[in-house]
Amino acid sequence: MSRIVTGLNTLEPFVLTREAVAAAGEFPFKTTEYYLSLVRSCSEDDPVFRQIVPSGEEIAGNYPSDPFMEEEKMPVPHLIHRYPQRAVFLANNFCASNCRHCMRKRIWKEKPSSASLEEVREAADYCRRSGIEDVIISGGDPFLLPPEFLGEIATLFRKRGGVKVLRIGTRLPVVDPGRVSGKLLKTLSHVSPIYIMLHYNHPAEWTPQGDELLRKMGTCGLILMNQSVLLKGVNDEASVLGELFMGLLERGVKPYYIHQCDLVRGVTHFWVDLSRSVGLLRELQGYISGLALPYLAVDVPGGLGKVLLGPSDSLPRKEGKYLLRTYTGREVLYGFDS
Ligand SMILES: *Cc1c(COP(=O)(O)O)cnc(C)c1O
Ligand code: SF4
Repeated sequence: MSRIVTGLNTLEPFVLTREAVAAAGEFPFKTTEYYLSLVRSCSEDDPVFRQIVPSGEEIAGNYPSDPFMEEEKMPVPHLIHRYPQRAVFLANNFCASNCRHCMRKRIWKEKPSSASLEEVREAADYCRRSGIEDVIISGGDPFLLPPEFLGEIATLFRKRGGVKVLRIGTRLPVVDPGRVSGKLLKTLSHVSPIYIMLHYNHPAEWTPQGDELLRKMGTCGLILMNQSVLLKGVNDEASVLGELFMGLLERGVKPYYIHQCDLVRGVTHFWVDLSRSVGLLRELQGYISGLALPYLAVDVPGGLGKVLLGPSDSLPRKEGKYLLRTYTGREVLYGFDS
């Protein structure tokens, strides 16, 4: 297990601008010694460094912090129910490493807390009442919870909530594989099948230790999927994405989604134009294994849900924005100043 570090001096010899220090005031810096050890050069061009270093651009502009209105979509505490039949349960609000591109970075300054057992029961009861079939246990990072408690959460949703499909979203295997205990894997194997949604963004994040953990998770019967975020200056090149997706597949991890970076305050310096995002998929399609190619997932503001795009999608424009169609058939304009 590697130590968690929060002091900006850890980033030396890199010199932060005054704006970057202010950004760290609004969105605190935090990472692990393990993840820091993957940094090859202390510069914003380094794919690992760029995911942890505060940038002055984070606090520029006036973008909303919660355009998806997550907090208004909670029928009971910690549960986001936005789509038919599935819901997200926010089990805790802390992570081992703060990703600068996090769409929930607005919560980083809250006091660290986890859902209580009573709240899990309440959420499970809601799932049963509402016919929820698929629950995504997210956070924060649920892998930081005590193993027995995370096992209990999964069991409650499955047994008491009658939920058929369980997913757990975690970045811990990427930012500190040594912190994922054998006990946690064993506990989760008793509730299988569970889909583990990992968060690798760049081939520089692979290590022998991380690979060994992926093998162990597979052996425990956990089903491994990955959700990347498309990040300018980190992975917005077809060659990098091709290596990432094939490398995941080789390690027994299915690339499920690559997320278009959200139009959220604090992440603007990572935005990639949507036509470039689809173009990157187009460059890869046909050249890499079809299993390796994820959907591009675009979360449209207003809580209307994700729009999934593939390499063959055309992107009509209107009023300088992109015209997207949600799963309900509703047309929305999507663009940088919406
Ligand atoms: C992404 C998401 C889901 C799951 O969507 P899938 O397309 O089934 O992976 C469920 N609820 C919310 C609120 C989401 O943002
Ligand atoms: S691991 Fe996920 S929730 Fe945690 S900071 Fe990174 S993106 Fe945000």
